[in-house]
Amino acid sequence: MSIREELEAREKEILSPFAVCSANSAGRDKPLKPCPLRTEFQRDRDRILHCKSFRRLKFKTQVFIAPEGDHYRTRLTHTLEVSQVARTIARALRLNEDLTEAIALGHDLGHTPFGHSGERSLNRLTQSGFRHNEQSLRVVEVLEGGEGLNLTKEVRDGIRNHRTSGRPSTLEGQIVRLSDKIAYLNHDIDDSIRAGLITENDIPEDFRKTLGANVHDRLGTLIRDVIMHSLDEDRIIMSPGIEEAMQDLRKWMFEHVYIGGKAKEEEGKAKSMIELLFGYYMDHPERLTKDYLHLLEQGEAQERVVCDYISGMTDNYAIEKFEELFVPAGWKF
Ligand code: MG
Repeated sequence: MSIREELEAREKEILSPFAVCSANSAGRDKPLKPCPLRTEFQRDRDRILHCKSFRRLKFKTQVFIAPEGDHYRTRLTHTLEVSQVARTIARALRLNEDLTEAIALGHDLGHTPFGHSGERSLNRLTQSGFRHNEQSLRVVEVLEGGEGLNLTKEVRDGIRNHRTSGRPSTLEGQIVRLSDKIAYLNHDIDDSIRAGLITENDIPEDFRKTLGANVHDRLGTLIRDVIMHSLDEDRIIMSPGIEEAMQDLRKWMFEHVYIGGKAKEEEGKAKSMIELLFGYYMDHPERLTKDYLHLLEQGEAQERVVCDYISGMTDNYAIEKFEELFVPAGWKF
């Protein structure tokens, strides 16, 4: 018996009846010879972790545009925090932790530079629209390595459906969908306090009473609530009181940080930069890099390919390209 077969047998023995066992995966579009060491979902996790799009998350904005301090979250640390929250929940519920981790590590691979402001700009500029979850799927199905990562159906389903409106078909996917919100709500509060945009005491007393009086306690309350209420259930849920408090705190963050706050003052500049870059590459497709020119030659729509190129940029690379294309060389100092 190989190590993988032993791991598969152990999954069947210990996982909940609601878990997806890796041996029961619906598989890949292009079948692969099984690995002697790793299950299919472990293999997907590794394929994501070793891809270039994953490394680029390091230089993509979470909330604060190109943050200068060393302690602010980036899209990469956000992804790792989502993965950690999701794995804790999956393990406690005896669901498949490897599948959960693979979905979590892949969920934001298609995120644009400059966070959601970049996403909104590309969405406005294109006829077919732009959504980061669909782009994450396109990264793993088409863009990475020129032919995609050939992941299992369960991992791709979880990535595609991680947004609020999504309906993941596995409980592991449902965990990531909820863990994404739990993680960003808490780390964005932490970063906002660090940046001096809000203080802990600005957070309304109701939320502090229900969820906890600091970032650490609130995170613990939310994770425990999901676990306690989803045990032996065929879906991932929270108690109504905690869920409502979390949603209301999220609304409060939208009003005070995401939309109304100082962090958004730079957003107009990011929007103009994306618009100018988009217009430039629509007029000059020949200036796209080799991999993207190849997609055009294969007959992909230009708008789609320009979106692929721009959404793949890190914040720094987008700024660099903008300077190269629009700022006269002598003006840079
Ligand atoms: Mg996310």
